[in-house]
Amino acid sequence: MPPDTSEIACDILIVGAGIAGTAFAAAVRKRGYSVVQVEMAREPLDTARGDHLQCVVVELLDEWGLLPAVMAAGAEKRTGARYVRDTGEVLLHAPHAALQIPHPYYLYLNHERIAETFIAAAMENPDYTLFRPARARNFEMHENGAGIASLTVHLPDDAPAPPGFASGQDVVIRPRMVVGADGRGSRVREVMGFGALTHDYESPLVILFGPRLTSDPLNELKTFMGPKGSLSRIPRLGDQWKLGLPIAKADIAFWKTATLRMRQSAVAARAPELEGFACEVAGFYPVRLLSAEHWARGNTVLIGDACHAMHPARGQGLNVAIRCLARLVDLLPDAADMADADTVMKRLRAYDHGTKPAIDKLLADNHTRGEQMDSLDPTVIAASAAALRAINNDPERLRRYCLQSAGYADSLSALSG
Ligand SMILES: Cc1cc2nc3c(=O)[nH]c(=O)nc-3n(C[C@H](O)[C@H](O)[C@H](O)COP(=O)(O)OP(=O)(O)OC[C@H]3O[C@@H](n4cnc5c(N)ncnc54)[C@H](O)[C@@H]3O)c2cc1C
Repeated sequence: MPPDTSEIACDILIVGAGIAGTAFAAAVRKRGYSVVQVEMAREPLDTARGDHLQCVVVELLDEWGLLPAVMAAGAEKRTGARYVRDTGEVLLHAPHAALQIPHPYYLYLNHERIAETFIAAAMENPDYTLFRPARARNFEMHENGAGIASLTVHLPDDAPAPPGFASGQDVVIRPRMVVGADGRGSRVREVMGFGALTHDYESPLVILFGPRLTSDPLNELKTFMGPKGSLSRIPRLGDQWKLGLPIAKADIAFWKTATLRMRQSAVAARAPELEGFACEVAGFYPVRLLSAEHWARGNTVLIGDACHAMHPARGQGLNVAIRCLARLVDLLPDAADMADADTVMKRLRAYDHGTKPAIDKLLADNHTRGEQMDSLDPTVIAASAAALRAINNDPERLRRYCLQSAGYADSLSALSG
């Protein structure tokens, strides 16, 4: 009979195995740390969430040696974005292929496949343990705000346990450092007592999937803007398109019960060229901005949506998470120095102070765009369309816009010089 309780000490405990937590585990896989990751979900991640990796993130994945695995998992290239009126008039065309950057393309890969690719890479670390499913709930805190001392998780009876552990056991994890990557409702943020500023957008998003109507070798993202609201047509693996539409809350009932014909005509009302698109509803998403007041204290740091969740208007949520954690990884002490709690604390504080202000600015910029996309008011949509047209008519502004959307000319990239 295995004992009821087991213990494990580690350099780094990662709470959550969404994109942020798995990217972190993959990024540090060759740094010599002992890593424990805890994820409560039994099922793969929600496939309808963010699936596009910005050009600057592709460069990071290349640096970390992860790009071949992401390509092998089936990632495809998208080389531009196009905004059009519902009439077909092109408002703005952002061709990333023309940019002088190492990887002038986005990559797209289904959300859950990105995370599984990162976990497979994390497992190259011989000292990596994944507890999944296991919910992080029972934390014991260090005194004087020094962070998290231990986490006790229960390994369910009906799921296999990692080697050296047994189903049904409680496991006490004693980490030197903790990464809270547990999403918008972060338990780590809660136990650390970090407040958060939040804003709930008015219009939830409905996400639709369906087979492409036409082929597009460039795999461009196309956003339609008209008096009935905006609609983004996003390339998805398997010759599919994913559509994202902000809708009135009252219309959720319509989308839940609509027949295929009804869905098709609602789509065509916003984007006439998509008439006949055979789509299924993939999910509904209430949209919330969240900005944690602090990211780090003592031995504990937050990453991803746990500290900065944003409107998907610019497709930045998971990309900003990966770009931020790249900075964090660069600041971490070497494995041999992880036992020095003071050094760990100073590095995490330096990360918080050095990175958060840039993200606060980025969140504010993203919020402006989020509010535009959130609005179903034709005059607001027309004004947004006019603003895009003005950028398109000014070559220097357009070049800057393209660089920004690629992740090379915003407040976060300014930090890297
Ligand atoms: C419809 C939609 C479209 C989007 N499109 C884009 C896009 O195009 N580009 C982009 O960059 N971003 C996009 N985003 C945002 C992006 O998906 C998120 O920013 C990103 O996935 C956040 O990742 P995360 O790992 O921080 O959090 P999450 O994905 O929320 O992961 C947190 C993980 O922690 C686990 N967890 C939570 N609590 C506990 C606990 N107590 N114990 C153990 N585990 C726990 C959860 O089960 C989950 O797996 C989109 C979001 C939505 C909703």
